[in-house]
Amino acid sequence: MEKLIIFSAPSGSGKTTVVKHLLSVMQDKLAFSVSATTRNPRPGEENGREYHFLDLNDFRNKIKEGAFLEHEEVYAGILYGTLWTEVRKIWAEGKAVVFDVDVKGGLNLKREFGDQALAVFLRPPSVDILMERLTKRSTEVEHQLQERIAKANYELSFESQYDTVVVNDKLDETFATCEKLVSDFIAKP
Ligand code: ADP
Ligand code: 5GP
Repeated sequence: MEKLIIFSAPSGSGKTTVVKHLLSVMQDKLAFSVSATTRNPRPGEENGREYHFLDLNDFRNKIKEGAFLEHEEVYAGILYGTLWTEVRKIWAEGKAVVFDVDVKGGLNLKREFGDQALAVFLRPPSVDILMERLTKRSTEVEHQLQERIAKANYELSFESQYDTVVVNDKLDETFATCEKLVSDFIAKP
């Protein structure tokens, strides 16, 4: 069966960290769906690796062409979307697709794919810790940081709609829990 593994959470909860880890330990079974976005690359990010970085016009054209499986305006004026080409390529390799998407995009994927999808909500131990991690990451300018923090409580209200919730407190424990969740899901017929 073609499978999907969805990680959603407020910004700063640890999705990127967890997804990178899973990809490194389960490379033969999983591959990452590289989304498209209109935000600027962060230092160290490469076009085609973390994201396909598009300008707004190109993104809008792709929407019109039906290139997206789902897309959302996650932050004001900033669009993110899952490309069909990514998902099909990964399934053709016989692997499960891993997504790092916002809470709404994650639920849309789960609704569309049902039992083919495992939807994991990664929760920070508290909003204070989330703020601390996000601030320390130092990737956003002040107003973007505030926007992300302001959205966190709203996003946290979606957790009950996910298949499972993992609290990302101690990273090694989070890694172990997620590895087990994902390998059990992949092993299921
Ligand atoms: P997201 O992709 O959900 O926005 P990141 O994976 O970028 O989140 O994590 C946000 C920051 O918190 C990063 O700097 C990361 O190194 C750090 N981090 C992630 N998980 C933990 C953890 N369990 N304990 C401490 N710091 C963490
Ligand atoms: P960041 O800018 O920190 O990389 O991501 C911001 C938010 O956008 C995160 O919640 C991330 O999961 C989400 N995101 C990334 N790609 C997609 C996508 O393809 N679709 C949706 N709906 N959200 C995405």
